[in-house]
Amino acid sequence: MPMIKPTCIRDLRSRVNIVDVVSRVATLKKAGSRFKGLCPFHNEKSPSFHVNPDMGVYKCFGCGKSGDIITFVRETEGLNFNEAIEALGQRFAVPIEYEDGAGPTREERSLRQELFDLHEVAAEHYHQLFKANGPAGDWMRAYWRDKRHFALELADEFKIGVAEPADNSLGAVVLKRKFSEEALRQCGLFFLREGSILSLGSLKPRFRGRLMIPIRDHQGRVVAFTARQTDLTPADDPAREAKYVNSPETPIFTKGNLLFNLDRARTQVGEGKPFVMVEGQLDALRAWSVGLKTAIAPQGTSITEGQLVLLRRYHTQVECFFDSDSAGQKAALRFLPMALKAGLEIRFLTLSGAEKLDPDLLFLERGIAGYEDVRRSARSAMAHASQAILPDAAHATPEQQARAARALFEIVAAAESEVARTGFIQEAAQALRLPPAALLRDFEAFLRQGGPRVNAAPSPPAAEPKPKTTGIPPEHDLLLICLHFEAIGRALSHVVPHDWIDTSHPAGALLNRFLAEFEQGAWPGTQHLDPLLETEAEKSLIASLLFAPPTLDDPKKVAIEGLQQIRTRALEPRLREIELALANHQTDSTVDPFSLLKERSDLQRQLRQPLVLPDAA
Ligand code: ZN
Repeated sequence: MPMIKPTCIRDLRSRVNIVDVVSRVATLKKAGSRFKGLCPFHNEKSPSFHVNPDMGVYKCFGCGKSGDIITFVRETEGLNFNEAIEALGQRFAVPIEYEDGAGPTREERSLRQELFDLHEVAAEHYHQLFKANGPAGDWMRAYWRDKRHFALELADEFKIGVAEPADNSLGAVVLKRKFSEEALRQCGLFFLREGSILSLGSLKPRFRGRLMIPIRDHQGRVVAFTARQTDLTPADDPAREAKYVNSPETPIFTKGNLLFNLDRARTQVGEGKPFVMVEGQLDALRAWSVGLKTAIAPQGTSITEGQLVLLRRYHTQVECFFDSDSAGQKAALRFLPMALKAGLEIRFLTLSGAEKLDPDLLFLERGIAGYEDVRRSARSAMAHASQAILPDAAHATPEQQARAARALFEIVAAAESEVARTGFIQEAAQALRLPPAALLRDFEAFLRQGGPRVNAAPSPPAAEPKPKTTGIPPEHDLLLICLHFEAIGRALSHVVPHDWIDTSHPAGALLNRFLAEFEQGAWPGTQHLDPLLETEAEKSLIASLLFAPPTLDDPKKVAIEGLQQIRTRALEPRLREIELALANHQTDSTVDPFSLLKERSDLQRQLRQPLVLPDAA
């Protein structure tokens, strides 16, 4: 792996604001001089993920993850160190230089990065064909405009494309761009028979004669395509009958972790502007075209918990707008418990049956006004579920009511908040026409009998760690002091013998290393610690310590206390050994009492000696 120049990494750190890096993945709110939001590394409902832009670090007080811009990109995008730096350099226009002056060769680029590049190339290629004058482009533009009633500008905005029915021009393009065979085999855009030699002839395109809709991940990178069947789709297409064909799952595409248009919608949600979940990509595009910019769609599969957790990072309110007569309504019942568990507030928009409209038609005919109308009669999650489970509550028998109640309990029990559950039960009572108090008693009985599954008690919120906590090695405090009070660090380096430090844990190993730097006058400053950090655990610890400058009235006193602790820990065991030996010396002839007595008085003197730190400027 070629070495990236350390100056380059330093440059990147000073020029890129960590808030901009994290904001691509999580929504942050300003809190004093810092920012906080929902943690992208664990599932949570109240924000414990903090970002400190001054120090360029983040820390989650819920799951403990911490790090800097590079760790963040590595962990959220699954990249290695160099790839993360390259990605950041590209994103923030910071040139990346390598030690030997050369960039990574094709072979050294990761497969994932190649797959991202390949999809970008493919999206551009399909889109250019769509725009170009030629049989495929002409036909598809007319289809888009006249049959689908979409504007050509929308096609530009979303890079809508066409896959040619017969030619393999994409194959020619990617072969010319020298993508690796591995990437071509794994990208899902081609069929390449096992064992066959890579050539234009052996590389068979998966998508032919179809409308190509690029699928982007939540960071806006093209990771897959949805291909809609058209009259151009050739008869020998193995998936000829399928209206929509999706890319298969690849190292960069997992259907269940992706929502169409989330990359754009997440920047548009806010107070009074919830996510609107629609059934398909074209529904989401239609919504966008009429100005409803928060629409998202699952990837032609049922909605997964992963998708809901992803949504929850950006906004809690989701309106579901599915075809009224479709399986979507039933699917909603299956996903409701997951949504409540994820802490989402769900409402359902339904079209009255008489209109025989689907959301697409409604948007097309009435624009955003149609949405505003439907929204006025939006139903709560429980009202919707009750309606689906027991459509005619007014004429239901007590047995039917009891069965329906039980089905609703299964859903309500998924919500973790007691307040939310009580609210849901009240809504359910209203919908089932039952007295709320009675239904709540039944629900409690249902839970006592074990409920659907036992919900883990929510873990207590983690408190912000104080600089001084029992059970933490004294090296930890000393390390904190070194990081934030350079002068004290320098002073410590002159009084702490290296063998007092317990280097069996990261804090000790780092303290030992840092003090050596101070001692030699080579302390690089907190911004440039990278070369001194050897393991992930060390990097994480440093990010976490840098995160919150401690508020200490007397840091020197804390340093001396820490010093005292490591001195006691280093010297006392030997003192006890000596005392034991002296007590036994009459029965053990190998013991020399005089040297032991001398050593004991030395140790006792050392332990009594007041610790002082020389004043260092
Ligand atoms: Zn976390």
